[in-house]
Amino acid sequence: MGIELEGVTRTFGGHVAVRDVSLHIPDGSLTALLGPSGSGKSTLLRIVGGLEVPDAGRVLIDGRDVTRLTPQDRGIGFVFQHYAAFRHMTVYDNVAFGMRIRKRSRTAIRERVTELLALVQLEGFADRYPSQLSGGQRQRMALARSLAIEPEVLLLDEPFGALDAKVRRELRTWLRHLHDDMHVTTVIVTHDQEEAMDIADEVAIMDHGVLQQVGAPREVYEQPGNEFVMGFLGPVNAVDGQLVRPHDLEISQTEEQGLGWAQAHVERVVHLGFEVRVEIVRADGWKLWAQLTRDEVESLGLDRDQTVWVRSRRARTCDETGATQAEAVIDGDG
Ligand code: ADP
Ligand code: MG
Repeated sequence: MGIELEGVTRTFGGHVAVRDVSLHIPDGSLTALLGPSGSGKSTLLRIVGGLEVPDAGRVLIDGRDVTRLTPQDRGIGFVFQHYAAFRHMTVYDNVAFGMRIRKRSRTAIRERVTELLALVQLEGFADRYPSQLSGGQRQRMALARSLAIEPEVLLLDEPFGALDAKVRRELRTWLRHLHDDMHVTTVIVTHDQEEAMDIADEVAIMDHGVLQQVGAPREVYEQPGNEFVMGFLGPVNAVDGQLVRPHDLEISQTEEQGLGWAQAHVERVVHLGFEVRVEIVRADGWKLWAQLTRDEVESLGLDRDQTVWVRSRRARTCDETGATQAEAVIDGDG
């Protein structure tokens, strides 16, 4: 079911947590609410779920105004970062819990729980207790529990936040596959841009309670609407009124006279595996860093203390309001 937020505002004791947010979340999509800590993501998610009532604005699910409905009446599944499992209940009973409350038959419960445990790859764990699971397994159990009630909408608040980087990556790939099988309209809150870009169909970027931009991952990365979005989605160099991604810098070791080239000094070459970070200072004083591959650095023979020429293949200019615009792309030999 599609979700519509219309001019949603929520204030806590004079502090505006969410300001006039309007957002369309398409039916069956996986949308990420992305932003730094304190930007209002959780508050917005809680408003969608009915755990929080907005001071102004409306929430519509499948066209129905649910702004004042309880979470139970919205048909929504929740998963939070620190999932509160029932510790005295087995995995099976944890997953069955919501269905028991809804007085489903024993057979229906057994069928559904078995199906869900297979789906989240916890077959064979039904009789364990939460303390006997790893962090990743516990979060998968949490997902199974929230899916047991067959929600129309699944809301996830930093569900993998407490896990280590490798498990996080595995779980998000797994969540994406799960979503592709189930098509439940899903909203996931994260402060991790890579996580959002990796799994979401649409990314909604928040800062200071204000929705900054909404779009497909590639769209918001390549056409960031403002300086904040550009900086939040990836590293940037600020040079001479322009914003340049480190991978959009080009380096030459022979003197270049063409448009956009500037002489520079290589301060440091940092090898990070596949990626190499080249720190340079332009002759006019601007400090910047370029992101190259190991092979590019090797074929150039780049090293510290060399004199090079540098230019940006692609840049964005930024006006006083922070809005950005594409600069002409330099192609070929310019
Ligand atoms: P995020 O999830 O992006 O980190 P939150 O939505 O949790 O941000 O919080 C947004 C802002 O609202 C923060 O400044 C936070 O301190 C404040 N806030 C959130 N919930 C409450 C609350 N129940 N009472 C008071 N302030 C709150
Ligand atoms: Mg939060």
